[in-house]
Amino acid sequence: MHEIRDEVAAFACRGREHSLPHAVYIAPATAHILIQKRTADISRTAAQHWIEPHAHGIYVKPADTWIDPSRPAERALVTHGHADHARSGHGAVWATPETLAIMALRYGTEMGTPVPYGEGFEHGGVKISFHPAGHVLGSAQILLEHAGERVVVTGDYKRRFDPTCTPFEPVACDVLITEATFGLPVFTHPPIEDEIAKLLAARAANVDGCIVVGAYALGKAQRVIAELRRAGYEAPIYIHGAMQKMCELYAAHNVPLGELIIATGLAKAELKGAIVIAPPSAMNDRWAQRLPEPVTAMASGWMRVRQRARQRNVELPLVISDHADWNELTDTLLELRPSETWITHGRTDALGRWCELHQLKARALDLVGREDEDEG
Ligand SMILES: [Zn+2]
Ligand SMILES: [Zn+2]
Repeated sequence: MHEIRDEVAAFACRGREHSLPHAVYIAPATAHILIQKRTADISRTAAQHWIEPHAHGIYVKPADTWIDPSRPAERALVTHGHADHARSGHGAVWATPETLAIMALRYGTEMGTPVPYGEGFEHGGVKISFHPAGHVLGSAQILLEHAGERVVVTGDYKRRFDPTCTPFEPVACDVLITEATFGLPVFTHPPIEDEIAKLLAARAANVDGCIVVGAYALGKAQRVIAELRRAGYEAPIYIHGAMQKMCELYAAHNVPLGELIIATGLAKAELKGAIVIAPPSAMNDRWAQRLPEPVTAMASGWMRVRQRARQRNVELPLVISDHADWNELTDTLLELRPSETWITHGRTDALGRWCELHQLKARALDLVGREDEDEG
């Protein structure tokens, strides 16, 4: 955590050098207070009257509909299939066809109305449409149009190439409601090709053992597999049984993953020289003890923080994230230049501070339950 704290402090200090009216020095711990105080300035804007941020989701008043609610809601718009956004138990659900398929896989017979990318519908005087977010298969930004205003909710997103999902599309808007999972300047994700090369080199150096890669079961696992294929790795890839159905779902949605073999129950000799992908939770349990001399790797944006890698006994940290890094977050803001930015979750204080320094109005929402460490 020290690395992060130091980075926030350095960031806040840099702000001091600017001679903007609001650029007073603020201690990192109190940064959010200043940003929240400034919400008084923006409470007059129209969006404030029809979109309400609550701790458990974003409420679209005229449509009486919630976005990614963390509690069961009568009507829900769901940005993507990760558990912190797509909960079970809602009445009506609108999501992309891929997200609905993922929800059905996770929660059983979940019903919903599919809304393909670029298409939309009207509900309660609000025009609602879904646009690619580039985060995982089916992930969407949601555009809400009402009272002459355009509000975009990014959900989780990234700007980098990902062979497993439709790339992010910038959508012009007045209000951008953005995530900030990696909203600190210290978080710059390296090119994925470099990380995959590290993985392949580790495998080549350990032919008598195996490399076990911890990767979130929805999105990250399939992306690591698809990137290994893109790098020319054609051998079978071994997976934890818990990932089988999600990998099949991806393959059924035209994301080829090559030959996958369930690692569970195989003899040690069969896994020599193998790359094994497993959910992070399986890495330190009995399942992993049956692998031959495993080198432990983990694919996550959090691997940028050395201490986190050490805490989890990760020998080969792979900085591979499905979230926008600091540059992607700030480049997107500069590209869209929304009149207001609402920051839902993650490092809301640092990104809010950056917005101030760039004369962009910002507001931290601090939604609850939005950070799943393994998802990063
Ligand atoms: Zn997500
Ligand atoms: Zn999330």
